[in-house]
Amino acid sequence: MTRIAQIKVHPVSVPLKRALWTAHERIKTASLILVEVRTDDGLTGYGQIHGSPLKDICAWVERFGEVVKGMDALAHVAVWEKLFALTSPRPGGIGGRDGLPPPLPRASRPQITAAIGGIDIALWDVKGKAAGLPVYRLLGGENRPVLTYGTGGYYVEGEPLTACADELARFVANGYRAVKLKTGGESMSEEIERVRATRGAIGADILLMLDMNAAYGVHDCAGFARRVEPFAIHWLEEPLHWYLQPADYVRLAAATSIPLAHGERELHHYSVRDFLDCGAIRYVQFDSTRHGGFTESLRIAHLAAQRGVYVAPHHAPELHAHLVAAFPDVGFAVESHGDPQREPVSFGLYKERAEVRGSYVHLSDKPGFGIEIDWDFVAKHRA
Ligand SMILES: [Mg+2]
Repeated sequence: MTRIAQIKVHPVSVPLKRALWTAHERIKTASLILVEVRTDDGLTGYGQIHGSPLKDICAWVERFGEVVKGMDALAHVAVWEKLFALTSPRPGGIGGRDGLPPPLPRASRPQITAAIGGIDIALWDVKGKAAGLPVYRLLGGENRPVLTYGTGGYYVEGEPLTACADELARFVANGYRAVKLKTGGESMSEEIERVRATRGAIGADILLMLDMNAAYGVHDCAGFARRVEPFAIHWLEEPLHWYLQPADYVRLAAATSIPLAHGERELHHYSVRDFLDCGAIRYVQFDSTRHGGFTESLRIAHLAAQRGVYVAPHHAPELHAHLVAAFPDVGFAVESHGDPQREPVSFGLYKERAEVRGSYVHLSDKPGFGIEIDWDFVAKHRA
């Protein structure tokens, strides 16, 4: 049996050349936690986490490493269930009488699910290496090019309102056939102007999605949607305020012909299930690297397939393309960064990974996720 011998974390952080804004937050650095799982028979798998605070998530990964040490490294479901179960009360939990950590604090759930995710992704990498197969093949997928779109149009203080149009037109000139524009940060009239300028600059044939970072309530969003419908918008992503629920998405979906996308902020498949069941979203965007890992993304992809909802995971194209490739009916696309300056870690961390070229991710036949880490980069930018 292949057993988990050691789990290590490598937090990496690179300051951006210029600070960016989404509608919700300022981004000054690009950060990632690389999770390394070693087995007792010499395999090493790598996972990654996007989340904060880095220090807290790293501490959870290290603590969980002690909990799962000695477990079957190929039994990723058993590992996942063991760690996730720690988030609820159990007999023997008070004082940790059963030898496991006491029920984990409610306030730390985003960091805890992120830590579980990083370990889980690394175990899928181990599994692929143990089998000598890429992850998409473990899932029964074909090696087919996976559509990817480039995300841009972040707000930069002092830049003209429609600078986003030139930026996304550059993505298209570089080969992207689908692009996503950050929206929701300025007044509605200004946002309509940004969308109009961007559609004009990229032409009619390019898919254009809007990422709203939860900027609106239902009525305002319905009004916004009516005004951008003439610009052939492929989806409205995370349109509603963070506290609004599936029932609110149902009301929004009834008020617009533009498909809705959601999922990157959800911590687990139980809440995503309710978004899928309510029928309001047409694209699901769960992020393995933020919460729950690849195992949880796979569960969500199966739920989505049964409901005819497209799978379009958030970020980490080199990992998520393996999932999308295994769902020929509903696997739609993965997200990538059109501009290396926006995500210097994503562009610098790997010596080798699935290649983004001409709006597609091209998977390789290398085992696991097919990635090779650039350890000089990790050492240089260790947080
Ligand atoms: Mg988003």
